Amino acid sequence: MTQQVPLFDLTAQYASIRDEVSAAISRVCDSQQFILGPEVEALERALAAFLESPDAVAVSSGTDALLAALLALGIGPGDDVITPAFSFFATAGSIARAGARPVFVDIDPATFNVDPVRLDRALTPRTRAIIPVHLFGQSAEMAPIVEIAEARGIPIVEDAAQAIGTRYRDRPVGTLADMGCFSFFPTKNLGAFGDGGLVVCRDPRVASKVRSIRNHGSETKYRHDMVGGNFRMDALQAAILRVKLAHLPVWTAARQRNAARYETLFERAGLIGHVELPARAADSTHIYNQFVIRVRQRDALRQHMQKQGIGTEVYYPTPLHLQPCFKNLGHVTGDFPMAERASSEVLALPIYGELAESQQALVVEAIQSFFQRA
Ligand SMILES: *Cc1c(COP(=O)(O)O)cnc(C)c1O
Repeated sequence: MTQQVPLFDLTAQYASIRDEVSAAISRVCDSQQFILGPEVEALERALAAFLESPDAVAVSSGTDALLAALLALGIGPGDDVITPAFSFFATAGSIARAGARPVFVDIDPATFNVDPVRLDRALTPRTRAIIPVHLFGQSAEMAPIVEIAEARGIPIVEDAAQAIGTRYRDRPVGTLADMGCFSFFPTKNLGAFGDGGLVVCRDPRVASKVRSIRNHGSETKYRHDMVGGNFRMDALQAAILRVKLAHLPVWTAARQRNAARYETLFERAGLIGHVELPARAADSTHIYNQFVIRVRQRDALRQHMQKQGIGTEVYYPTPLHLQPCFKNLGHVTGDFPMAERASSEVLALPIYGELAESQQALVVEAIQSFFQRA
């Protein structure tokens, strides 16, 4: 069957901004200035304002944002960096790329975010940074994490890749501690037409370090004070992101409306005992980069929905501590039971802003028919 409801549909959003995007692309083509430059600087100013941050450094991806942030903090071999066992791979991958050791912590099963009590117990004498993740668009419980970190002088790098515009106690996530990292991967709430990312820093000296690392550790041409990389953003991506940023609040509100609709539809369908809807964390807004439900018979339900033409996805089927590349860390199944259970139960449903109410009804009907059949 052809897909009736895809997991994502970026074409509808594009249709609504096609002319604006074409004008932005033409402007960059006319300038023939393709890397960094005025488009990227203008995007950085707009994002700094949007995120209520003193500064913002645009980079080549969310992954590179995390790596550049860790390098700017001087993290390297011999250092431990604490992070949740349940996230997108890049969170832990960037720690390993910096030469440090990822130290995993289990999650709160209700919010999928790192459990602050377990985080406290995971501290080692070598802990040099903490990377909490604001998974699916909701803030981690930051107050106790900030308290733990500040008491020991350990910097926090927020992985806010899925949470641009999320607020925790009325502050934008990414600016709650020392550094924040964002991603403009096309399916993030603010998506480029390719890869892109951002680092925000509380300390302007750290921000200039990230700027230097972004460009091979060089502030003056051909003089390299440290070894960085090519983490630069393209002007084309910056120009497109400037167009899209202006629409982001409306798009976010549409996702939140869709989430509320799902809640009503699931309730009306009598499905609340069969599936667990996303819990709302205290002190945080939710921008629903993903609308993730929990179901015991996840794989069978997913297959059933696929047959009905409904796109779903599993974020993430393997927790980080069980990834083959981290075998050397010596973890086994059972080390982080909440992360492992999440990996076997989570299912992301279509939530993009242009989703019609009738399509959401189809999604819920498909789930209902699965449980009636069972
Ligand atoms: C998307 C994502 C990243 C990486 O961003 P890219 O732009 O794809 O490199 C990092 N962490 C999390 C939690 C993400 O969702």
